[in-house]
Amino acid sequence: MPKGPRFQTPQGMHDVLPEDQPYIERISGVVKDVADFYGYARIDTPMLEDAALFEKGIGVTTDIVEKQMYFLRTKGGDVLAMRPEFTAGIARAYIQHGMINLPQPVKLYSTGPLFRHESPQAGRFRQFHQFDFEIFGEQSPANDAQIIQMFYAILRELKFSHLIIEVNSIGDSQCRPYYKKLLVNYLRPRQYSLCVDCRRRMKENPLRILDCKEEKCQRVRSQAPQIIDSLCDECKNHFKQLLEFLDEADLPYHLNPHLVRGLDYYTKTVFEIFVETEGDQGEGKTLALAGGGRFDTLVKLLGGKDVPATGAAAGMERIVSLLKEKQLFTPPTPQYRIFLAQLGDAAKKKSAKLLEEMRKAKLNVAESVGRDSLRAQLARADKLGAEFTLILGQREVLDNTIVIREMAKGTQETVKLEKVVEEVRKRLKK
Ligand code: AMP
Repeated sequence: MPKGPRFQTPQGMHDVLPEDQPYIERISGVVKDVADFYGYARIDTPMLEDAALFEKGIGVTTDIVEKQMYFLRTKGGDVLAMRPEFTAGIARAYIQHGMINLPQPVKLYSTGPLFRHESPQAGRFRQFHQFDFEIFGEQSPANDAQIIQMFYAILRELKFSHLIIEVNSIGDSQCRPYYKKLLVNYLRPRQYSLCVDCRRRMKENPLRILDCKEEKCQRVRSQAPQIIDSLCDECKNHFKQLLEFLDEADLPYHLNPHLVRGLDYYTKTVFEIFVETEGDQGEGKTLALAGGGRFDTLVKLLGGKDVPATGAAAGMERIVSLLKEKQLFTPPTPQYRIFLAQLGDAAKKKSAKLLEEMRKAKLNVAESVGRDSLRAQLARADKLGAEFTLILGQREVLDNTIVIREMAKGTQETVKLEKVVEEVRKRLKK
């Protein structure tokens, strides 16, 4: 069997190759435009944080913290974790930098890599990228609606159709404990019909049983009491208002009583955005692109003041692969109207300075400074579709001139080297 290269990317991690960069740039461009319009400032937090930040913030019994975090012990003995999500780090930064003293709300966004030790499969990686938006300091359902609207707008701007927004409320510390009891009372006599993981979740995190993907658990949950019926007045009101905002904004949403999201810090609103796609056998499938919700207790839990917040994140890789699969974006091919060719050592040396001059003049010039033959260079200029080739030969170097060749006609003109930028500009305008 032929052996592959000795070193490969670690399992579940991938290189973002040059051909994928235009897709990332396109997504990042749309994200930045939407962030700028809605007044979100960019923040970048470290990829490594104190592991306890995630344990405390996300919760020790969640899948992310329990099974998926990458840990690292520093030489000084600190235990750090590779960030598995953005929110806890951004909330830490909000507290650390006293952002509570700024006019509220504080609206922040970020993009970058995250790390989760999950079993790799299609659309699921161990290092992946997200963009993330958070609002701190306001409790209005209008903020939740704005976040949902922004994610929807970004995906629509990227030309996605067949998007489905699913929303739910998981209550707060007033009503959720009561609901948990109701749920456990319902599940207890049925626990042997649940998967092994869910039987364990009964004690630690019974809400997660509601979004288990196992068929037998889904059968049990279909008759389970719904949290919506147990919400306290405040949560009920918040949810009702959120739905009114979504209606008013014409956002296509479904209520999903089983949507709970995996993390402990959520309160009230939770949502996910899915897209309809085709499975391997051509069957209809939905794929999660974005998810988030309100997290009113997180800042306090991490040692800050009582600051309500809401936010969400979306996965870049899934968006990139769908942009390709659905042919929603064609990477632009670079356009070069000018090519610089050179002949001989002296010309080669001079062309380095000339290229820099062209760059400063914002002229887009292609070159092939490693090649010697003029024929090869002209062929390259043709291939790139250049309209003009500048030829710097031995004679021109001595005379301080340069030849401008019009590629379509094959005509050539010699001009003074110091006038080349001006002369090229004149011809490009014609
Ligand atoms: P989450 O932070 O788990 O709510 O995920 C938000 C979005 O990030 C998902 O809807 C996916 O698009 C993306 N995502 C989450 N986990 C992964 C992963 N392991 N690999 C690739 N994308 C992911």
